[in-house]
Amino acid sequence: MDMLTIGAFAKACRLSPKALRLYDELELLRPARVDPDTGYRYYAREQLEQARLVAWLRRLGMPLAGIRQVCALAPAAAAREIRAYWARVEAETAVRRDLAAFLADHLSTPHPPRKDTVMLELRYSAHSDPGRVRPANQDTAYAGGRLLAVADGFGPAGAPASSAAVEALKTLDTEEVPAGSVLNLLEDAVQNATRAVHEVSAARDVGTTLTAMLWTGSRLALVHIGDSRAYLLRDGELFRITHDHTMVQSMVDEGRLTVQEATVHPQRALLLKALAGGAPVVPDLHLQDAQPGDRFLLCSDGLSGVVADDRIRQLLSSLPDPDDAVRALVDAANDAGGPDNVSCVVADLVAAAA
Ligand code: MG
Repeated sequence: MDMLTIGAFAKACRLSPKALRLYDELELLRPARVDPDTGYRYYAREQLEQARLVAWLRRLGMPLAGIRQVCALAPAAAAREIRAYWARVEAETAVRRDLAAFLADHLSTPHPPRKDTVMLELRYSAHSDPGRVRPANQDTAYAGGRLLAVADGFGPAGAPASSAAVEALKTLDTEEVPAGSVLNLLEDAVQNATRAVHEVSAARDVGTTLTAMLWTGSRLALVHIGDSRAYLLRDGELFRITHDHTMVQSMVDEGRLTVQEATVHPQRALLLKALAGGAPVVPDLHLQDAQPGDRFLLCSDGLSGVVADDRIRQLLSSLPDPDDAVRALVDAANDAGGPDNVSCVVADLVAAAA
């Protein structure tokens, strides 16, 4: 066997001898031979490829445990694992990017707001319907001057669970919320909601999704757990502003499933996150900028599961009254068979009445 000293091997694979000794101790990259008398490490030339892979994965920022896993896999599976790792990095970065944008925005906005700024307020409507198949409605929908919320309960006590979660948020609807502390308030409210759901039932199979928006007078704060959704209709275009916490969505993110395959996957309803069992959950928090004329839709999967985004966009664009829009969306879900409870909240940002 063609053996290299640790120095020569380090040079060839661009890892330092110190790193090589560490990887030996971690059993990530064992030398081919260790001299029993001197303790010198020797590496086989065939090990160079693996050493280079380790070096590249280190440059990618992958933790050592992940590198060990990738190195043990066949090339195709290793490639999948690297893609999955990177998808997770990007998702985490996106959350931090939103927070950074919010902080920068918050620090550069004059306080109090300038006098010539148009004051905006919400014009809203909410409706929840059992659909055509389910014996009971386990959804809860709520809309007020500051708070919009949709919760989709599941399990034997799904209805009280979704109602308790929304109820726990309602104090936010009556208090003035300074924009600077809104994310903390929402985070606290979610902990209250988690406790409230736990009081309804401690069973692991009882819980609820929760998607809510809070209007601060200048922007909207969004909190989201599960597979209910929030959309923004702006200038005739529909944007989804939440990310489903479902197994199929994470498989789409990691390139293991296409969007088309996800919509018909037998386990498409399997949630990765929900308010359930009293376990602390980390919600998605997001600050949404606001413009006059923006229209927001919050809905349970009883709508998004059976009505295509383009149809949702058409209905939202053609019905200016929030009541009409909400009714038409619920009807569209029922026309498509109404297989699930369906809840919709529509809210428009309009100039405040003087
Ligand atoms: Mg549902």
